[in-house]
Amino acid sequence: MHKKLFIPGPIDVQEDVLAKFATQQIGHRGAEASRLQRTLEEGLQKVFQTENRILISTSSGTGLMEGAVRSCTKERAAVFSCGSFGDKFYKICKLNGIPADKYRVEMGEAITADYVRENLLKGKYDLITLQHNETSSGLTNPLGEIMAMMKEEFPEIITVVDAVSSLGGMNIPQDEWGIDILITSSQKCFGLPAGISFAGVTERSIEKARTIENRGLYFDYVTLYDFILKKDQYPSTPTLPHYFGLEYQLERMEAEGLENRFKRHHEMALEVQAFAKKYFALKVKDEKYLSDTITCVENTRGLNISEVNKLLEPKGYIIANGYGDLKDVTFRISHMGDYTVEDVRGLLDAMIEVLGLEA
Ligand SMILES: *Cc1c(COP(=O)(O)O)cnc(C)c1O
Repeated sequence: MHKKLFIPGPIDVQEDVLAKFATQQIGHRGAEASRLQRTLEEGLQKVFQTENRILISTSSGTGLMEGAVRSCTKERAAVFSCGSFGDKFYKICKLNGIPADKYRVEMGEAITADYVRENLLKGKYDLITLQHNETSSGLTNPLGEIMAMMKEEFPEIITVVDAVSSLGGMNIPQDEWGIDILITSSQKCFGLPAGISFAGVTERSIEKARTIENRGLYFDYVTLYDFILKKDQYPSTPTLPHYFGLEYQLERMEAEGLENRFKRHHEMALEVQAFAKKYFALKVKDEKYLSDTITCVENTRGLNISEVNKLLEPKGYIIANGYGDLKDVTFRISHMGDYTVEDVRGLLDAMIEVLGLEA
């Protein structure tokens, strides 16, 4: 029996979208591949709300995160972290020999514009990394405010934003906010299988990358950028099944409308948050930072999460344990992609039933 995934990616893919993955292959150097690439880029630009070029990588999002800091840091990176994925950005810098400092707040707390400003004054940085949505704590940082401050006070610094668990489900207008590099993956709010990821990139970040040595090969932003610029193609063989699926999914997303999509994610979030508050507690205490795509619930009842999943499986559901330091003391419910409020209610009703909670 299929179990509906309420983990923070991958999540269920709609059957009609899935069917597109079975399309026969085409040559990746032909005119048809270039046409497909142009169509995908145009569709992605709408979701990213940008006129920037969009890099498509045959990898999950971590590859483009690695490529961004490696391609664009010349002096030193300031990594802002409010959880496990922020910490991962720091690790990426370290393992690539990129000078970096990490500024971290407690899990469940947000990175604010004041916090960023205060810490950027401590060193000489030419790139910063941020999470829009921290999947480990279910928190959305006030990115619009941070970007407004950056534009005003540190306009020369390249801004890299990991929006892997929120882009396509929450409003992140790349051009309006002035984000240099905005990254997301297919298996979260886009509702596709994992294995492909996207980055909207400003021309100035690519021009800067051209001046940097040792950018590596596979995730070098300049190589990726120049191939789409010249031919609407990619240096290596792309994952064409994803291209077919994405082409179709972008049409579906456009038909739904971005505003409706954001609204649906918000409504799903409200359901899960109400459940969490009634029976448990939310990890994020300041509710203005609650995420619309993932909720991190404090395990106030001391449940064994793998046992909970064993009870949920026959009902056709799977939820996620806490991540990293929050394993077992929290659990997480995702509400992203093409799920509906009814799907979420189905899961919550099943949880109420198997856990014997008072309805
Ligand atoms: C899932 C996730 C990642 C990792 O993305 P992959 O596509 O698995 O490489 C990075 N950042 C955040 C915030 C995530 O939720």
